[in-house]
Amino acid sequence: MASRFRYFFKISVLAVIYIVLGKFSLELGAVNKFAAPIWPPTGFSLAALFIFGLDLWPGVAIGAFIVNWWLGANVLVSLGIAGGNTLEAITGAWLLFRFSALRNLGTLNSVLTLVFPVAIISTLLSATIGVFSLFLDGKIPPASVATTWSAWWVGDMMGNLVIAPLLLVWSTKINLKQFRPRQWIEVFLISISFTFLALIIFSNWFLPGTQLFPRPFCVFPMLGIIAIRLGQRGVVTANFILSTILLYFTANEIGNFWKGDLSESLQLAQVFLAVVSSTSLVLAAATDERKRLYSEAQKAITIRDEFLSVASHELRTPLTILSLRLQLLDREIKTALPTGSESSTKISEILHASQEQSRRLKLWLTDLLDLDRIHSDKLRLIMEKMDLVTVVNEAVEYFKISSGKNKELLSVVSPELVVGTWDRMRIERVVNNLISNAIKYGNGKPITVTVEQDEFYHCARLIVSDQGIGILPNKLNKIFERYERAVDPHSSIGGLGLGLYICRQIVEEHRGTITVASEIGRGSTFTVELPIKTLSSEVI
Ligand code: ADP
Repeated sequence: MASRFRYFFKISVLAVIYIVLGKFSLELGAVNKFAAPIWPPTGFSLAALFIFGLDLWPGVAIGAFIVNWWLGANVLVSLGIAGGNTLEAITGAWLLFRFSALRNLGTLNSVLTLVFPVAIISTLLSATIGVFSLFLDGKIPPASVATTWSAWWVGDMMGNLVIAPLLLVWSTKINLKQFRPRQWIEVFLISISFTFLALIIFSNWFLPGTQLFPRPFCVFPMLGIIAIRLGQRGVVTANFILSTILLYFTANEIGNFWKGDLSESLQLAQVFLAVVSSTSLVLAAATDERKRLYSEAQKAITIRDEFLSVASHELRTPLTILSLRLQLLDREIKTALPTGSESSTKISEILHASQEQSRRLKLWLTDLLDLDRIHSDKLRLIMEKMDLVTVVNEAVEYFKISSGKNKELLSVVSPELVVGTWDRMRIERVVNNLISNAIKYGNGKPITVTVEQDEFYHCARLIVSDQGIGILPNKLNKIFERYERAVDPHSSIGGLGLGLYICRQIVEEHRGTITVASEIGRGSTFTVELPIKTLSSEVI
Protein backbone atom coordinates (compact mmCIF):
# COMPACT_ATOMS: atom_id res chain seq x y z
CA MET A 1 0.00 0.00 0.00
CA ALA A 2 2.76 2.38 1.06
CA SER A 3 4.78 1.58 -2.06
CA ARG A 4 1.76 2.17 -4.30
CA PHE A 5 1.16 5.50 -2.59
CA ARG A 6 4.82 6.38 -3.07
CA TYR A 7 4.55 5.46 -6.75
CA PHE A 8 1.47 7.66 -7.28
CA PHE A 9 3.12 10.44 -5.36
CA LYS A 10 6.20 10.29 -7.60
CA ILE A 11 4.06 10.26 -10.75
CA SER A 12 2.09 13.28 -9.52
CA VAL A 13 5.22 15.25 -8.65
CA LEU A 14 6.68 14.41 -12.06
CA ALA A 15 3.48 15.52 -13.81
CA VAL A 16 3.26 18.79 -11.83
CA ILE A 17 6.88 19.72 -12.56
CA TYR A 18 6.34 18.81 -16.21
CA ILE A 19 3.33 21.12 -16.41
CA VAL A 20 5.09 24.04 -14.68
CA LEU A 21 8.18 23.72 -16.88
CA GLY A 22 6.07 23.35 -20.03
CA LYS A 23 3.90 26.37 -19.32
CA PHE A 24 6.93 28.46 -18.44
CA SER A 25 8.89 27.59 -21.58
CA LEU A 26 5.95 28.21 -23.89
CA GLU A 27 5.72 31.72 -22.43
CA LEU A 28 9.24 32.28 -23.79
CA GLY A 29 7.91 32.49 -27.32
CA ALA A 30 6.73 29.43 -29.19
CA VAL A 31 6.57 28.71 -32.89
CA ASN A 32 2.91 28.16 -33.76
CA LYS A 33 2.00 28.31 -30.09
CA PHE A 34 3.06 24.71 -29.37
CA ALA A 35 6.78 24.45 -30.33
CA ALA A 36 8.94 26.12 -27.67
CA PRO A 37 12.56 27.17 -28.48
CA ILE A 38 13.70 25.01 -25.63
CA TRP A 39 11.45 22.37 -24.15
CA PRO A 40 12.74 21.71 -20.60
CA PRO A 41 10.10 19.02 -19.91
CA THR A 42 11.86 16.74 -22.43
CA GLY A 43 15.15 17.03 -20.55
CA PHE A 44 13.39 16.80 -17.22
CA SER A 45 11.42 13.67 -18.10
CA LEU A 46 14.50 12.02 -19.61
CA ALA A 47 16.50 12.67 -16.42
CA ALA A 48 13.59 11.60 -14.18
CA LEU A 49 13.01 8.29 -15.99
CA PHE A 50 16.75 7.60 -16.11
CA ILE A 51 17.29 8.35 -12.41
CA PHE A 52 14.06 6.96 -10.91
CA GLY A 53 13.11 4.28 -13.43
CA LEU A 54 11.13 3.86 -16.63
CA ASP A 55 7.97 2.89 -14.74
CA LEU A 56 7.35 6.55 -13.93
CA TRP A 57 6.33 7.17 -17.56
CA PRO A 58 2.64 7.84 -16.65
CA GLY A 59 3.85 11.05 -14.96
CA VAL A 60 5.24 12.25 -18.31
CA ALA A 61 2.07 11.24 -20.14
CA ILE A 62 -0.24 13.04 -17.65
CA GLY A 63 1.95 16.15 -17.53
CA ALA A 64 2.22 16.40 -21.32
CA PHE A 65 -1.52 15.84 -21.78
CA ILE A 66 -2.48 18.57 -19.28
CA VAL A 67 -0.02 21.16 -20.69
CA ASN A 68 -1.30 20.76 -24.22
CA TRP A 69 -4.91 20.64 -23.22
CA TRP A 70 -4.37 23.79 -21.16
CA LEU A 71 -2.90 25.45 -24.25
CA GLY A 72 -6.10 24.85 -26.15
CA ALA A 73 -5.53 21.56 -27.96
CA ASN A 74 -8.55 19.23 -27.93
CA VAL A 75 -8.45 15.96 -26.03
CA LEU A 76 -7.44 13.80 -29.00
CA VAL A 77 -4.64 16.11 -30.09
CA SER A 78 -3.43 16.43 -26.49
CA LEU A 79 -3.41 12.65 -26.24
CA GLY A 80 -1.41 12.40 -29.48
CA ILE A 81 1.18 14.95 -28.34
CA ALA A 82 1.42 13.38 -24.88
CA GLY A 83 1.93 9.97 -26.52
CA GLY A 84 4.82 11.35 -28.60
CA ASN A 85 6.43 13.00 -25.57
CA THR A 86 6.11 9.87 -23.45
CA LEU A 87 7.51 7.64 -26.18
CA GLU A 88 10.41 10.06 -26.58
CA ALA A 89 11.22 10.04 -22.84
CA ILE A 90 11.00 6.24 -22.56
CA THR A 91 13.13 5.70 -25.68
CA GLY A 92 15.73 8.26 -24.53
CA ALA A 93 16.04 6.84 -21.01
CA TRP A 94 16.12 3.28 -22.36
CA LEU A 95 18.91 4.22 -24.77
CA LEU A 96 20.90 5.74 -21.91
CA PHE A 97 20.49 2.49 -19.93
CA ARG A 98 21.21 0.38 -22.99
CA PHE A 99 24.52 2.14 -23.70
CA SER A 100 25.51 2.23 -20.00
CA ALA A 101 25.60 6.02 -19.82
CA LEU A 102 26.75 7.44 -16.49
CA ARG A 103 24.73 10.01 -14.61
CA ASN A 104 27.74 12.26 -14.19
CA LEU A 105 28.29 12.21 -17.99
CA GLY A 106 31.94 11.72 -17.15
CA THR A 107 32.69 9.43 -20.07
CA LEU A 108 32.71 10.05 -23.79
CA ASN A 109 30.39 7.08 -24.24
CA SER A 110 27.77 8.67 -21.98
CA VAL A 111 27.87 12.04 -23.73
CA LEU A 112 27.89 10.59 -27.22
CA THR A 113 24.86 8.45 -26.34
CA LEU A 114 23.09 11.50 -24.97
CA VAL A 115 23.92 13.63 -28.01
CA PHE A 116 23.31 11.21 -30.88
CA PRO A 117 20.70 8.53 -30.33
CA VAL A 118 18.96 10.37 -27.49
CA ALA A 119 19.00 14.11 -28.25
CA ILE A 120 19.01 13.85 -32.03
CA ILE A 121 17.08 10.64 -32.80
CA SER A 122 14.59 10.02 -29.97
CA THR A 123 13.33 13.60 -30.20
CA LEU A 124 12.20 12.97 -33.79
CA LEU A 125 9.41 10.85 -32.34
CA SER A 126 7.83 13.61 -30.30
CA ALA A 127 8.24 16.27 -33.03
CA THR A 128 6.76 14.06 -35.72
CA ILE A 129 3.82 12.72 -33.69
CA GLY A 130 3.11 16.14 -32.11
CA VAL A 131 3.16 18.15 -35.34
CA PHE A 132 1.18 15.46 -37.17
CA SER A 133 -1.53 15.58 -34.47
CA LEU A 134 -1.76 19.39 -34.69
CA PHE A 135 -1.84 19.26 -38.47
CA LEU A 136 -4.65 16.68 -38.54
CA ASP A 137 -6.65 18.86 -36.22
CA GLY A 138 -6.05 21.88 -38.45
CA LYS A 139 -4.13 23.73 -35.73
CA ILE A 140 -1.26 24.43 -38.12
CA PRO A 141 -1.54 25.24 -41.83
CA PRO A 142 0.36 23.02 -44.28
CA ALA A 143 2.80 25.85 -45.03
CA SER A 144 3.95 25.96 -41.40
CA VAL A 145 4.34 22.21 -40.89
CA ALA A 146 8.06 22.13 -41.71
CA THR A 147 8.94 25.19 -39.57
CA THR A 148 6.92 23.96 -36.61
CA TRP A 149 8.34 20.46 -36.93
CA SER A 150 11.95 21.65 -36.99
CA ALA A 151 11.38 24.12 -34.12
CA TRP A 152 9.73 21.34 -32.09
CA TRP A 153 12.52 18.89 -32.82
CA VAL A 154 15.36 21.30 -31.97
CA GLY A 155 13.43 22.53 -28.91
CA ASP A 156 13.22 18.98 -27.56
CA MET A 157 16.83 18.40 -28.52
CA MET A 158 17.79 21.50 -26.51
CA GLY A 159 15.87 20.10 -23.55
CA ASN A 160 17.97 16.95 -23.75
CA LEU A 161 21.23 18.82 -24.30
CA VAL A 162 20.81 21.54 -21.68
CA ILE A 163 18.25 20.53 -19.05
CA ALA A 164 18.83 16.75 -18.87
CA PRO A 165 22.64 17.09 -18.40
CA LEU A 166 22.08 19.77 -15.74
CA LEU A 167 19.75 17.49 -13.76
CA LEU A 168 21.72 14.30 -14.34
CA VAL A 169 25.09 15.74 -13.38
CA TRP A 170 23.85 17.73 -10.39
CA SER A 171 21.93 14.71 -9.10
CA THR A 172 25.24 12.96 -8.45
CA LYS A 173 26.98 13.34 -5.12
CA ILE A 174 29.37 16.23 -4.65
CA ASN A 175 31.95 16.29 -1.93
CA LEU A 176 32.19 19.96 -1.01
CA LYS A 177 34.76 19.26 1.68
CA GLN A 178 37.39 18.35 -0.90
CA PHE A 179 37.24 21.88 -2.36
CA ARG A 180 40.13 24.04 -1.27
CA PRO A 181 39.68 27.83 -0.87
CA ARG A 182 41.68 28.37 -4.05
CA GLN A 183 39.18 26.25 -5.97
CA TRP A 184 36.20 28.14 -4.55
CA ILE A 185 37.77 31.38 -5.70
CA GLU A 186 38.37 29.86 -9.14
CA VAL A 187 34.75 28.68 -9.42
CA PHE A 188 33.50 32.09 -8.34
CA LEU A 189 35.70 34.02 -10.77
CA ILE A 190 34.92 31.73 -13.70
CA SER A 191 31.16 31.90 -13.03
CA ILE A 192 31.13 35.68 -12.77
CA SER A 193 33.25 36.24 -15.85
CA PHE A 194 31.32 33.69 -17.92
CA THR A 195 27.94 35.21 -17.06
CA PHE A 196 29.27 38.69 -17.70
CA LEU A 197 30.74 37.58 -21.04
CA ALA A 198 27.47 35.91 -22.08
CA LEU A 199 25.50 39.06 -21.17
CA ILE A 200 27.83 41.27 -23.17
CA ILE A 201 28.00 38.98 -26.19
CA PHE A 202 24.30 38.26 -26.56
CA SER A 203 22.85 41.60 -25.55
CA ASN A 204 24.77 43.86 -27.89
CA TRP A 205 24.80 46.38 -25.04
CA PHE A 206 28.49 46.72 -25.55
CA LEU A 207 29.43 48.55 -28.78
CA PRO A 208 25.88 48.34 -30.18
CA GLY A 209 25.65 48.04 -33.91
CA THR A 210 29.25 47.04 -34.45
CA GLN A 211 29.88 43.99 -36.59
CA LEU A 212 33.31 43.35 -35.13
CA PHE A 213 32.43 42.66 -31.56
CA PRO A 214 30.80 41.00 -29.79
CA ARG A 215 30.65 37.76 -31.72
CA PRO A 216 28.82 34.68 -30.42
CA PHE A 217 31.76 32.34 -30.99
CA CYS A 218 33.68 34.21 -28.26
CA VAL A 219 31.97 31.88 -25.77
CA PHE A 220 33.93 28.87 -27.06
CA PRO A 221 37.29 29.61 -25.40
CA MET A 222 35.53 30.34 -22.15
CA LEU A 223 33.59 27.05 -22.36
CA GLY A 224 36.88 25.29 -23.12
CA ILE A 225 38.38 26.71 -19.93
CA ILE A 226 35.29 25.69 -17.96
CA ALA A 227 35.44 22.13 -19.37
CA ILE A 228 39.10 21.78 -18.45
CA ARG A 229 39.03 23.48 -15.06
CA LEU A 230 35.53 22.67 -13.74
CA GLY A 231 34.63 19.55 -15.70
CA GLN A 232 31.12 18.40 -16.58
CA ARG A 233 29.47 20.10 -13.58
CA GLY A 234 30.82 23.46 -14.76
CA VAL A 235 29.86 22.86 -18.38
CA VAL A 236 26.25 21.82 -17.76
CA THR A 237 25.77 24.88 -15.56
CA ALA A 238 27.41 27.20 -18.10
CA ASN A 239 25.25 25.78 -20.89
CA PHE A 240 22.16 26.41 -18.81
CA ILE A 241 23.16 30.02 -18.08
CA LEU A 242 24.06 30.58 -21.71
CA SER A 243 20.77 29.15 -23.02
CA THR A 244 18.68 31.15 -20.55
CA ILE A 245 20.41 34.42 -21.44
CA LEU A 246 20.40 33.87 -25.19
CA LEU A 247 16.79 32.65 -25.47
CA TYR A 248 15.52 35.34 -23.13
CA PHE A 249 17.19 38.10 -25.14
CA THR A 250 16.12 36.66 -28.48
CA ALA A 251 12.51 36.17 -27.35
CA ASN A 252 12.56 39.79 -26.17
CA GLU A 253 13.91 41.01 -29.50
CA ILE A 254 17.29 41.98 -28.09
CA GLY A 255 20.81 40.99 -29.11
CA ASN A 256 22.69 39.72 -32.08
CA PHE A 257 20.42 36.71 -32.69
CA TRP A 258 17.39 38.89 -33.21
CA LYS A 259 16.76 38.96 -36.97
CA GLY A 260 13.41 40.74 -37.06
CA ASP A 261 11.30 37.55 -37.05
CA LEU A 262 10.68 35.61 -33.82
CA SER A 263 10.58 32.10 -35.19
CA GLU A 264 13.62 32.61 -37.47
CA SER A 265 15.62 34.24 -34.64
CA LEU A 266 14.74 31.55 -32.12
CA GLN A 267 15.68 28.78 -34.53
CA LEU A 268 19.02 30.44 -35.19
CA ALA A 269 19.65 30.66 -31.43
CA GLN A 270 18.57 27.02 -30.99
CA VAL A 271 21.04 25.72 -33.57
CA PHE A 272 23.82 27.79 -32.04
CA LEU A 273 23.04 26.48 -28.55
CA ALA A 274 22.75 22.88 -29.74
CA VAL A 275 26.23 23.07 -31.29
CA VAL A 276 27.73 24.87 -28.29
CA SER A 277 26.25 22.54 -25.69
CA SER A 278 27.04 19.27 -27.46
CA THR A 279 30.61 20.37 -28.21
CA SER A 280 31.28 21.49 -24.64
CA LEU A 281 29.69 18.32 -23.17
CA VAL A 282 32.00 16.17 -25.30
CA LEU A 283 35.04 18.26 -24.34
CA ALA A 284 34.23 18.09 -20.62
CA ALA A 285 33.62 14.33 -20.81
CA ALA A 286 36.96 13.80 -22.53
CA THR A 287 38.69 15.95 -19.88
CA ASP A 288 36.92 14.21 -16.98
CA GLU A 289 37.73 10.82 -18.45
CA ARG A 290 41.40 11.72 -18.82
CA LYS A 291 41.57 13.04 -15.27
CA ARG A 292 39.91 9.89 -13.95
CA LEU A 293 42.18 7.56 -15.90
CA TYR A 294 45.23 9.51 -14.75
CA SER A 295 44.24 9.32 -11.11
CA GLU A 296 43.41 5.61 -11.45
CA ALA A 297 46.82 5.00 -13.00
CA GLN A 298 48.48 6.98 -10.19
CA LYS A 299 46.60 4.93 -7.60
CA ALA A 300 47.58 1.68 -9.31
CA ILE A 301 51.25 2.74 -9.34
CA THR A 302 51.07 3.67 -5.65
CA ILE A 303 49.54 0.30 -4.77
CA ARG A 304 52.20 -1.52 -6.80
CA ASP A 305 55.00 0.50 -5.18
CA GLU A 306 53.59 -0.15 -1.72
CA PHE A 307 53.38 -3.85 -2.46
CA LEU A 308 56.93 -3.93 -3.81
CA SER A 309 58.19 -1.95 -0.83
CA VAL A 310 56.62 -4.36 1.67
CA ALA A 311 57.71 -7.39 -0.35
CA SER A 312 61.30 -6.17 -0.61
CA HIS A 313 61.52 -5.45 3.13
CA GLU A 314 60.05 -8.84 3.98
CA LEU A 315 62.23 -10.74 1.52
CA ARG A 316 65.49 -9.21 2.69
CA THR A 317 65.83 -11.28 5.87
CA PRO A 318 65.24 -14.74 4.37
CA LEU A 319 67.51 -13.86 1.47
CA THR A 320 70.37 -12.79 3.77
CA ILE A 321 69.94 -16.03 5.73
CA LEU A 322 69.91 -18.01 2.48
CA SER A 323 73.18 -16.50 1.21
CA LEU A 324 74.85 -17.00 4.62
CA ARG A 325 73.75 -20.64 4.54
CA LEU A 326 75.14 -21.02 1.03
CA GLN A 327 78.50 -19.61 2.17
CA LEU A 328 78.49 -21.98 5.15
CA LEU A 329 77.66 -24.92 2.92
CA ASP A 330 80.50 -23.95 0.59
CA ARG A 331 82.93 -23.95 3.51
CA GLU A 332 81.63 -27.26 4.88
CA ILE A 333 81.91 -28.97 1.52
CA LYS A 334 85.46 -27.69 1.02
CA THR A 335 86.53 -29.24 4.33
CA ALA A 336 84.45 -32.42 3.98
CA LEU A 337 85.30 -33.34 0.38
CA PRO A 338 88.79 -33.61 -1.11
CA THR A 339 89.48 -30.63 -3.38
CA GLY A 340 89.56 -31.42 -7.08
CA SER A 341 87.39 -34.53 -6.73
CA GLU A 342 84.58 -34.90 -9.25
CA SER A 343 81.80 -34.56 -6.70
CA SER A 344 83.39 -31.52 -5.04
CA THR A 345 83.72 -29.74 -8.42
CA LYS A 346 80.11 -30.55 -9.29
CA ILE A 347 78.75 -29.34 -5.93
CA SER A 348 80.93 -26.21 -6.11
CA GLU A 349 79.49 -25.40 -9.52
CA ILE A 350 75.92 -25.79 -8.24
CA LEU A 351 76.74 -23.67 -5.19
CA HIS A 352 78.38 -21.02 -7.33
CA ALA A 353 75.26 -20.82 -9.54
CA SER A 354 73.01 -20.61 -6.46
CA GLN A 355 75.15 -17.85 -4.94
CA GLU A 356 75.04 -15.94 -8.22
CA GLN A 357 71.24 -16.18 -8.29
CA SER A 358 70.96 -15.01 -4.69
CA ARG A 359 73.31 -12.12 -5.53
CA ARG A 360 71.05 -11.10 -8.41
CA LEU A 361 68.01 -11.35 -6.18
CA LYS A 362 69.77 -9.13 -3.66
CA LEU A 363 70.50 -6.55 -6.35
CA TRP A 364 66.83 -6.50 -7.33
CA LEU A 365 65.81 -6.11 -3.73
CA THR A 366 68.29 -3.28 -3.30
CA ASP A 367 66.73 -1.60 -6.35
CA LEU A 368 63.27 -1.95 -4.82
CA LEU A 369 64.43 -0.66 -1.46
CA ASP A 370 66.12 2.30 -3.12
CA LEU A 371 62.93 2.97 -5.04
CA ASP A 372 61.10 3.07 -1.74
CA ARG A 373 63.69 5.47 -0.31
CA ILE A 374 63.48 7.71 -3.39
CA HIS A 375 59.72 7.92 -2.96
CA SER A 376 59.89 8.73 0.68
CA ASP A 377 62.69 11.22 0.00
CA LYS A 378 65.14 9.27 2.08
CA LEU A 379 67.87 8.72 -0.49
CA ARG A 380 70.48 10.47 1.62
CA LEU A 381 73.99 10.47 0.29
CA ILE A 382 76.95 9.70 2.51
CA MET A 383 79.73 11.65 0.89
CA GLU A 384 83.39 10.75 1.10
CA LYS A 385 86.51 11.33 -0.91
CA MET A 386 86.90 8.35 -3.23
CA ASP A 387 88.52 7.17 -6.45
CA LEU A 388 86.17 6.33 -9.30
CA VAL A 389 88.82 4.29 -11.15
CA THR A 390 89.14 1.88 -8.21
CA VAL A 391 85.38 1.39 -8.07
CA VAL A 392 85.26 0.71 -11.82
CA ASN A 393 88.21 -1.72 -11.72
CA GLU A 394 86.67 -3.64 -8.83
CA ALA A 395 83.32 -3.88 -10.60
CA VAL A 396 84.93 -5.01 -13.86
CA GLU A 397 86.97 -7.63 -12.00
CA TYR A 398 83.85 -8.88 -10.32
CA PHE A 399 81.90 -9.15 -13.60
CA LYS A 400 84.88 -10.85 -15.26
CA ILE A 401 84.87 -13.53 -12.57
CA SER A 402 81.14 -13.99 -12.48
CA SER A 403 80.68 -14.06 -16.26
CA GLY A 404 83.40 -16.77 -16.53
CA LYS A 405 84.16 -17.35 -20.16
CA ASN A 406 83.36 -13.80 -21.27
CA LYS A 407 86.30 -12.33 -19.36
CA GLU A 408 88.02 -10.78 -22.35
CA LEU A 409 84.84 -8.89 -23.37
CA LEU A 410 85.31 -6.23 -20.69
CA SER A 411 88.04 -3.63 -20.95
CA VAL A 412 88.75 -0.47 -18.99
CA VAL A 413 90.30 2.74 -20.30
CA SER A 414 91.19 5.14 -17.50
CA PRO A 415 93.86 7.31 -15.94
CA GLU A 416 95.33 6.16 -12.65
CA LEU A 417 93.02 8.09 -10.40
CA VAL A 418 89.88 10.16 -10.69
CA VAL A 419 89.13 11.41 -7.22
CA GLY A 420 85.95 13.18 -6.18
CA THR A 421 83.54 13.54 -3.28
CA TRP A 422 80.70 11.11 -3.78
CA ASP A 423 78.65 8.45 -2.03
CA ARG A 424 80.75 5.33 -2.56
CA MET A 425 77.98 2.74 -2.22
CA ARG A 426 75.65 4.60 -4.54
CA ILE A 427 78.32 5.22 -7.17
CA GLU A 428 79.12 1.50 -7.04
CA ARG A 429 75.44 0.86 -7.77
CA VAL A 430 75.56 3.11 -10.84
CA VAL A 431 78.74 1.47 -12.16
CA ASN A 432 77.40 -2.04 -11.50
CA ASN A 433 74.03 -1.31 -13.08
CA LEU A 434 75.55 0.13 -16.24
CA ILE A 435 78.06 -2.70 -16.67
CA SER A 436 75.51 -5.42 -15.91
CA ASN A 437 73.12 -3.85 -18.47
CA ALA A 438 75.92 -3.71 -21.04
CA ILE A 439 76.52 -7.44 -20.46
CA LYS A 440 72.79 -8.24 -20.44
CA TYR A 441 71.94 -6.33 -23.62
CA GLY A 442 75.43 -6.52 -25.20
CA ASN A 443 74.86 -9.57 -27.43
CA GLY A 444 78.13 -11.08 -26.09
CA LYS A 445 80.22 -8.43 -27.91
CA PRO A 446 83.09 -6.34 -26.40
CA ILE A 447 82.26 -3.70 -23.79
CA THR A 448 84.44 -0.72 -22.97
CA VAL A 449 84.30 1.15 -19.69
CA THR A 450 86.05 4.51 -19.82
CA VAL A 451 86.78 6.84 -16.92
CA GLU A 452 87.94 10.39 -17.63
CA GLN A 453 88.58 13.56 -15.72
CA ASP A 454 87.37 16.69 -17.47
CA GLU A 455 89.45 19.58 -16.18
CA PHE A 456 87.45 22.17 -18.07
CA TYR A 457 84.06 21.20 -16.65
CA HIS A 458 85.60 20.01 -13.44
CA CYS A 459 83.84 16.70 -13.58
CA ALA A 460 84.49 12.98 -13.75
CA ARG A 461 83.07 11.06 -16.69
CA LEU A 462 82.14 7.41 -16.80
CA ILE A 463 81.33 5.96 -20.22
CA VAL A 464 80.00 2.43 -20.63
CA SER A 465 79.82 1.40 -24.25
CA ASP A 466 78.55 -1.85 -25.75
CA GLN A 467 77.87 -3.16 -29.26
CA GLY A 468 74.63 -4.92 -28.39
CA ILE A 469 70.98 -4.74 -29.32
CA GLY A 470 70.70 -0.94 -29.01
CA ILE A 471 67.61 1.08 -28.08
CA LEU A 472 64.86 2.48 -30.28
CA PRO A 473 65.10 6.31 -30.59
CA ASN A 474 61.62 6.87 -29.09
CA LYS A 475 62.61 4.88 -26.00
CA LEU A 476 65.86 6.71 -25.30
CA ASN A 477 64.42 9.19 -22.82
CA LYS A 478 61.85 6.80 -21.38
CA ILE A 479 64.30 4.17 -20.12
CA PHE A 480 65.30 6.48 -17.26
CA GLU A 481 61.71 6.43 -15.98
CA ARG A 482 60.62 3.81 -13.48
CA TYR A 483 59.41 0.46 -14.77
CA GLU A 484 60.24 1.53 -18.33
CA ARG A 485 61.84 -1.09 -20.52
CA ALA A 486 62.85 -0.85 -24.17
CA VAL A 487 62.67 -4.58 -24.80
CA ASP A 488 59.61 -6.63 -25.60
CA PRO A 489 57.83 -7.45 -22.29
CA HIS A 490 57.76 -11.11 -23.32
CA SER A 491 61.48 -11.18 -24.16
CA SER A 492 63.69 -13.66 -22.37
CA ILE A 493 65.89 -10.82 -21.02
CA GLY A 494 64.48 -10.28 -17.54
CA GLY A 495 64.42 -7.04 -15.59
CA LEU A 496 62.25 -4.68 -13.56
CA GLY A 497 62.99 -1.50 -15.50
CA LEU A 498 64.25 0.15 -12.31
CA GLY A 499 68.05 0.10 -12.63
CA LEU A 500 68.42 3.17 -14.85
CA TYR A 501 65.73 5.06 -12.95
CA ILE A 502 67.68 4.55 -9.74
CA CYS A 503 70.97 5.40 -11.50
CA ARG A 504 69.46 8.70 -12.65
CA GLN A 505 68.19 9.52 -9.16
CA ILE A 506 71.61 8.79 -7.65
CA VAL A 507 73.47 10.76 -10.31
CA GLU A 508 71.10 13.72 -10.09
CA GLU A 509 71.33 13.67 -6.31
CA HIS A 510 75.07 14.18 -6.88
CA ARG A 511 74.16 17.12 -9.20
CA GLY A 512 75.43 15.11 -12.15
CA THR A 513 73.90 13.91 -15.43
CA ILE A 514 73.34 10.57 -17.13
CA THR A 515 72.71 10.32 -20.88
CA VAL A 516 72.54 7.65 -23.54
CA ALA A 517 73.31 7.43 -27.23
CA SER A 518 72.25 4.35 -29.09
CA GLU A 519 71.59 2.80 -32.45
CA ILE A 520 69.45 -0.26 -32.95
CA GLY A 521 71.64 -3.30 -33.62
CA ARG A 522 74.85 -1.26 -33.20
CA GLY A 523 75.02 -0.77 -29.45
CA SER A 524 74.57 1.81 -26.71
CA THR A 525 76.78 4.24 -24.85
CA PHE A 526 75.80 5.49 -21.42
CA THR A 527 77.64 8.55 -20.13
CA VAL A 528 77.61 9.69 -16.52
CA GLU A 529 79.09 13.04 -15.52
CA LEU A 530 79.70 13.73 -11.86
CA PRO A 531 80.96 17.04 -10.49
CA ILE A 532 84.29 16.45 -8.78
CA LYS A 533 83.28 18.65 -5.88
CA THR A 534 79.66 18.92 -4.83
CA LEU A 535 78.20 21.74 -2.78
CA SER A 536 77.89 19.37 0.11
CA SER A 537 81.33 17.81 0.14
CA GLU A 538 80.86 16.41 3.58
CA VAL A 539 78.33 14.00 4.94
CA ILE A 540 74.79 15.08 4.04
P1 ADP B 1 66.11 -3.57 -16.65
O1 ADP B 1 67.41 -3.84 -17.31
O2 ADP B 1 65.94 -4.23 -15.34
O3 ADP B 1 64.96 -3.78 -17.58
P2 ADP B 1 66.99 -0.81 -16.51
O4 ADP B 1 66.36 0.36 -15.85
O5 ADP B 1 68.38 -1.11 -16.12
O6 ADP B 1 66.02 -2.02 -16.28
O7 ADP B 1 66.97 -0.54 -18.05
C1 ADP B 1 65.78 -0.07 -18.65
C2 ADP B 1 65.70 -0.55 -20.09
O8 ADP B 1 66.70 0.13 -20.86
C3 ADP B 1 65.99 -2.02 -20.27
O9 ADP B 1 64.84 -2.80 -20.07
C4 ADP B 1 66.50 -2.08 -21.69
O10 ADP B 1 65.41 -2.15 -22.58
C5 ADP B 1 67.17 -0.73 -21.89
N1 ADP B 1 68.63 -0.81 -21.74
C6 ADP B 1 69.36 -0.51 -20.65
N2 ADP B 1 70.68 -0.67 -20.90
C7 ADP B 1 70.77 -1.07 -22.18
C8 ADP B 1 71.86 -1.39 -23.05
N3 ADP B 1 73.13 -1.33 -22.63
N4 ADP B 1 71.58 -1.76 -24.31
C9 ADP B 1 70.30 -1.82 -24.76
N5 ADP B 1 69.23 -1.54 -23.99
C10 ADP B 1 69.47 -1.17 -22.73
